[in-house]
Amino acid sequence: MESELFDVIVIGAGLAGLTAATRCQQAGLKVGLLEQLNRVGGLCGTYQREGYEFVIGCNEFGSSLEREMVALGVDIKFKAPNTRFTFESKSYQFPLKPLALAGMLKHTFDIQRFLKACKQPENSARSLDEIVSQTVKNRTLAQLILSFAYPSAITPARLSVAKFLEMFSKELNYDYQNSRIPIGGPQHLADQIAARFTAIGGQLWLERRVEAVEYAEGIHNVATSNGNYRAKQLISSEARQDRFPDGAVEGLSLNTLHLALKKSFPYPQGMHTLAYFPPDITGWMSQMDQGQLPDAFGFHLFCSDLPPKDEYYSVNLYCTAPRHMEDMAPAAQQQMESFILNHIERLLPGVNDAILYKTFITPADFYQQHHLKSLVTPYIVEHNMTKPDSYDSERAIYYIGNSLYPPGEHACGAVLCASQAATRLIETQAS
Ligand SMILES: Cc1cc2nc3c(=O)[nH]c(=O)nc-3n(C[C@H](O)[C@H](O)[C@H](O)COP(=O)(O)OP(=O)(O)OC[C@H]3O[C@@H](n4cnc5c(N)ncnc54)[C@H](O)[C@@H]3O)c2cc1C
Repeated sequence: MESELFDVIVIGAGLAGLTAATRCQQAGLKVGLLEQLNRVGGLCGTYQREGYEFVIGCNEFGSSLEREMVALGVDIKFKAPNTRFTFESKSYQFPLKPLALAGMLKHTFDIQRFLKACKQPENSARSLDEIVSQTVKNRTLAQLILSFAYPSAITPARLSVAKFLEMFSKELNYDYQNSRIPIGGPQHLADQIAARFTAIGGQLWLERRVEAVEYAEGIHNVATSNGNYRAKQLISSEARQDRFPDGAVEGLSLNTLHLALKKSFPYPQGMHTLAYFPPDITGWMSQMDQGQLPDAFGFHLFCSDLPPKDEYYSVNLYCTAPRHMEDMAPAAQQQMESFILNHIERLLPGVNDAILYKTFITPADFYQQHHLKSLVTPYIVEHNMTKPDSYDSERAIYYIGNSLYPPGEHACGAVLCASQAATRLIETQAS
């Protein structure tokens, strides 16, 4: 007997897949969503480790994500967090307070020179590092600007001005400067999108790894580890390295240090993310990019906003891993962990005495644990390249996620890609 025919099958229930599936279901299509793991969310989730609950990957989003959740009718609340970047001689809190903004006035000439240079078309291929070194005289301001390359895990020496500007594009409107964290944590966010999808009639299957897809006579036959599915249209969350030019390079992978802290230890009030940047950001990020372990490197951490526990709260700390050292030798791991535990005191004085549990997760451990890559930027997009389009006409498949158009590697990019692909698919169905 032939299996049920869906209008759309979506492969992967990460944020992108959940968004695309819910959009299509909302438009009246009959949608099935297949996920290989035993939970939804992909990189947006939590897990238990030796009795402690930790965030897996993403946790803080541009406010465009909140707008998308409202449009999808998802029942989730967000709060606006504060972030602090600590440099050698100065800290900045975001969103910037009026006093800090006033303090920036003394750098007006540097800022104007930098922005003017960024806007000149002949500079678009040049690196952020080059433009900053030529236009910004104040060292702390220069480090502050360069630190905006760090969240993409790309050294400022490789990040083109064109790609840097895209992060702040008004058209894409990710609005990372007004960031949001979901109340209840990232897994709750993903679970709530899934709840909305199924409440409006969508069908979700977990533990279904898609192993093969065949397209014949206008129907996609999808073979999974646990049954076959048929659909008129297919949306897939799989990354498209094959659509990038030969030699395209991944961003740097992230190491995670999970910390469970005694509940009595006070996390700075009103703060979410705390980042530490030693001097010469381009220097240490480029060393990482070249596969070397620098003596000093930056990291950031956040207090996971999960439902309260009796004895502890959990903190995730991320730092980039040197290229090709994703499966790091114990000595290198130890070196990174010691550096972090020495320097974390600058962000959280006294924290070392409050650690109940800690564990260092390399990108290789991350893959083994979650079956996902610990990558923010799947492939570095060169200045003269547009990311591959979602629709692959040869395979008749819409691909979604942060390896595809539109620009932007963070979760909001993946979600916008999914939303745009779903809209195109819905329009095609209607015509
Ligand atoms: C450590 C880390 C921290 C991050 N922090 C942030 C942050 O704070 N803010 C932010 O905006 N971004 C952050 N990012 C990036 C963000 O997590 C991603 O951009 C976003 O989650 C991508 O969503 P996605 O749905 O495209 O992919 P994924 O989350 O990878 O989801 C893909 C899903 O598809 C499933 N799947 C894949 N292949 C198959 C198959 N063949 N069959 C069935 N299922 C399949 C996978 O199991 C997975 O569930 C972070 C990334 C990492 C690694």
